[in-house]
Amino acid sequence: MKTNHKFTLILVVMLTSLLIATLINVAINFRSHAIKSATDKAKMTASIVRDGLTAHMVNGIMDKRELFLEQIMAQDQVEKLWIVRAPIVDKQFKKGFLTEYVRDDIDKKVLKTGKMIKVIKETPENALLRITIPYIASVDEKPNCLKCHNVAKNTVLGAISMEFNISDIRSAGTITLVKIFLINIIFIIIAIVVTNRYLKPFIQHFENLKEGIDRAYYGDFSFEFNTTLKGEGAEVTERINHLFRKMQETFGEIKHNLSAFLTQSKLACDDPLLEAQIIIKELSDVYKFKKTIELDESKDAIYRRLVYIINKKFNIDSFILSEIHKESKIRTLIHSENVSKACVVPMDDPYECRAYRTNSNVISSDFPNLCTYCSASKEEYLCMPFVINDDVSLTLSIYAKDQNTLEKHHEKINSIENYIEAAKPVIESRILMDRLRDSSLRDGMTGLYNRRFLEEFIDKIMQQTLREGISYSVLMLDIDYFKLVNDNYGHDAGDIVIKGLSDILKANIRASDLAIRYGGEEFTILLHNSTPESACEIAKKIQDDFNNTKFNVANETIQKTISIGVAEFPNDADSIWKVIKYADTALYEAKNTGRNRVVRFTEDMFSYNDEDESKEA
Ligand code: GH3
Ligand code: MG
Ligand code: MG
Repeated sequence: MKTNHKFTLILVVMLTSLLIATLINVAINFRSHAIKSATDKAKMTASIVRDGLTAHMVNGIMDKRELFLEQIMAQDQVEKLWIVRAPIVDKQFKKGFLTEYVRDDIDKKVLKTGKMIKVIKETPENALLRITIPYIASVDEKPNCLKCHNVAKNTVLGAISMEFNISDIRSAGTITLVKIFLINIIFIIIAIVVTNRYLKPFIQHFENLKEGIDRAYYGDFSFEFNTTLKGEGAEVTERINHLFRKMQETFGEIKHNLSAFLTQSKLACDDPLLEAQIIIKELSDVYKFKKTIELDESKDAIYRRLVYIINKKFNIDSFILSEIHKESKIRTLIHSENVSKACVVPMDDPYECRAYRTNSNVISSDFPNLCTYCSASKEEYLCMPFVINDDVSLTLSIYAKDQNTLEKHHEKINSIENYIEAAKPVIESRILMDRLRDSSLRDGMTGLYNRRFLEEFIDKIMQQTLREGISYSVLMLDIDYFKLVNDNYGHDAGDIVIKGLSDILKANIRASDLAIRYGGEEFTILLHNSTPESACEIAKKIQDDFNNTKFNVANETIQKTISIGVAEFPNDADSIWKVIKYADTALYEAKNTGRNRVVRFTEDMFSYNDEDESKEA
């Protein structure tokens, strides 16, 4: 029900109740007033009659009393009047007139009890008050009743019965009631009209507010409030409109910004508040997942966690997670419990997998027999490919007994994608780490990474570095006059010095740094997330340690010095090869300016010719 209708109804109910209460009150008052005034009149008449009869008695004209009674009866409203004589009076005096005897039970009762009785007899046309008042022998009256009556004190001598017509009072009351009723009805109508007129804008304003707030409750802040009110009402409306516009913009922006982080979940709905809540929850869960797997040491540990999430969080128990290697054309099963026979794509020919080959989702409900290898299992399936890097891809195949279950799983794929997308760079970096452990990338003599490592992986490592906003300091190191060691003490002695230097390098760098034997007695060090100052400090420390090391060769001890060039990635250049070149330029500068020095690269060391060369690099 609308507020204004409700308000009008309440007003009508209240005023009508008031009207009914007034009418009842007036009616009761009229009735009791009519009865009271008739009773008073009856009492007065009774008293007049008693006094009149006493006077007749005293004057000895008691037999003339009929005329007196007729005159009394002629009074207004007195319908009937009769005297009732008690038998004791008849006994003392002679019998009274025929009209002076008990006429009904009321007379009888009053004579017996000495108590006044009044009864109202009402018909639709008439209203009569019947009243019977006893005459009791009293010694207090003047003259003393007992002077004439041979009775005991308080004996009922008789009674007077009267019938009063109170119809006039009743009619007057009815007319008054009708008048009150009409006046009230007019007043109610006026009240409704006036209140409606003055309250309508307020009620409309309130209803308008209610509608807008109802919509806002479900996240829709597009409602435009309006009002016909002036002054404060208009001001409030304008402020609420301003607030709603702000909320609309803010929530739109939040939604837009949040959805940029995640593939929109199918759980998303029309309520932007709820939608933002869902996205934030998902974002937080994915972030926690990513933070956890970043601390996992191996790729297999990450895969195990991914399997756990798919199984427990998304409540999917029939699925296969495979890893496909493009170069070696091998598919390995990461998880296939209970469903190992669902996908029969050959393990040595992963290209047969439709999802992998087309790099798109394959859903059994889209087309019959879409993937011949999955269709063999007679289960519904949904296969998703995920490219991790140039070589490695994952495929996730979800199975369901019927289409309904598959449809439910399908609703989860955006969220699953968010998890796998978050895991991708971490898996990629673990794959890289695994490759780095490969012995073909290490120098046999020193155990440090070799030139091949640098050529194969440095670009990938640096791309990741750039994405994560991490910097590297590049150190190029070369032993001074090393040739002399070989010449004077032999090649083996030279090897001892090279190994000695590599031990010093290992001792001075952290696990996240990279030390590479660039060639011969030249080394490259990549210091992870270091500043130019700390890079120079480490270089100096290496230089000191090396200079102070005494090598025992051919029964002699020799000491050598080292020159080091330092450059910064990506500060000096956004290509790691350029930065290596710059560090080499700084090393060349160290050699040219006396050797046994640490030199930080500066632009002025670099000739135009060198620049062209580095561009080619
Ligand atoms: P500079 O101060 O200019 O660097 O003088 P240098 O004598 O060190 O000159 P250069 O860098 O040209 O000499 C490098 C020598 O290192 C040449 C090569 O015979 C020697 N060498 C390269 N690899 C090895 C190795 O594995 N073992 C030994 N013993 N010597 C090596
Ligand atoms: Mg040298
Ligand atoms: Mg050299």
